[in-house]
Amino acid sequence: MLSPVTLLLITAALSVIMLLVLGSLMRSGIPGVRSWFAANVLAVLALLLYAGRGVLPPLLSVEAANGLLAMCIAVIYAGFQQFFQRPVPVRMLAVGWICTMAGVAGFHYLVDAIAMRTVAVSLFHGAVCAAIGVTILRCQAQAGSRYSYFFTAGVALLLAASHLGRGLMYALQSDMQTADYQTTAWNLFFLAVGTLVLPLLTMGGMMMVHDRMVVRAEEQANRDYLTGAWSRRALFQVADRELRRVARHRDPVSLLILDVDHFKQINDSHGHAEGDRVLVDLVLRASAIVREIDCFARLGGEEFALLLTHSDAAAALQVADRLRQVLEQPVPTAAAITGYTVSVGVATLQAGEQFSALLARADAALYQAKHAGRNRVRVAELA
Ligand code: GH3
Ligand code: MG
Ligand code: MG
Repeated sequence: MLSPVTLLLITAALSVIMLLVLGSLMRSGIPGVRSWFAANVLAVLALLLYAGRGVLPPLLSVEAANGLLAMCIAVIYAGFQQFFQRPVPVRMLAVGWICTMAGVAGFHYLVDAIAMRTVAVSLFHGAVCAAIGVTILRCQAQAGSRYSYFFTAGVALLLAASHLGRGLMYALQSDMQTADYQTTAWNLFFLAVGTLVLPLLTMGGMMMVHDRMVVRAEEQANRDYLTGAWSRRALFQVADRELRRVARHRDPVSLLILDVDHFKQINDSHGHAEGDRVLVDLVLRASAIVREIDCFARLGGEEFALLLTHSDAAAALQVADRLRQVLEQPVPTAAAITGYTVSVGVATLQAGEQFSALLARADAALYQAKHAGRNRVRVAELA
């Protein structure tokens, strides 16, 4: 059977592997990664000290090893709090750690009861693992895919249960002088679970970091860099979904295309930077009118589209007019240009119509608005 020392050395090696993988995530800038890295460094030291029991002086293999490992789980917890941008309860962790260490030292030098030392350490680890599980379950709503969050929370709660079970078992045992270095099946089970805590929690944390990076990359691909409006790509994705939905539920959908009037002149007279400011201002002011469920996207240049769900032609015309009126007001920010106007084309989806056809009709209506003198709204003809 695997000896406890071999198990400890394997776990230390696993922590070294975790350090190498965590190193690759450092530059993601996602909070928590640094703490998990520090925790794994502490774990390697602690596990080597544990493995040296019998060879090293007890102060190192008992107090220092337990102290470092307890600190390590606290730092892991701090990492999860930071990941979710929640405050780290430093004082509470420090008090818990000091009490645990007082227990370890007291049951070593005052009364030598290794079982009670295990109880003290298990209680701390169990409580912190439970706190990690609860934190993740509370905050996982921000996630893209829930899998990594449920995995990590599940692992943390199982580990908490196992630590607390271990503490209870030792608290109830009659012989206080024996403990985890005797290779009974239970002792080895708890040792294995205890030593797997860190690699498992670190792996869970890394999966969560990956999930956040995917969400971030998707967000960047779906947002226009200058204005923060949805990108053309996002609009087409939303439209695809929306058109499939209305095919089943017969719900009106409309599309607006907005184009800034004489934008080239704004650029030519005031410079490109001022033109950019107009685009940012347009999105800012339009966003105040647009509902959360609608998709306001930059099609390109100074052209924007607004996909309106649950909106028939009359409702869409109302929104278009409102947008036009709001945007013709003077620019509130002190900029070189005092104002600008937009022209709008409006089209409502017809039965069986493709999105490209709807876009073409809205575009034709926009052209008519331009032709009629600009700063106005035109509704598309039926196909
Ligand atoms: P109209 O009223 O007919 O729409 O005239 P317009 O001048 O607005 O239209 P036109 O298509 O002639 O000019 C659009 C200009 O928009 C030309 C291009 O240089 C400028 N443009 C495209 N993208 C950007 C951008 O990101 N920032 C700035 N500042 N200008 C841009
Ligand atoms: Mg224009
Ligand atoms: Mg244009």
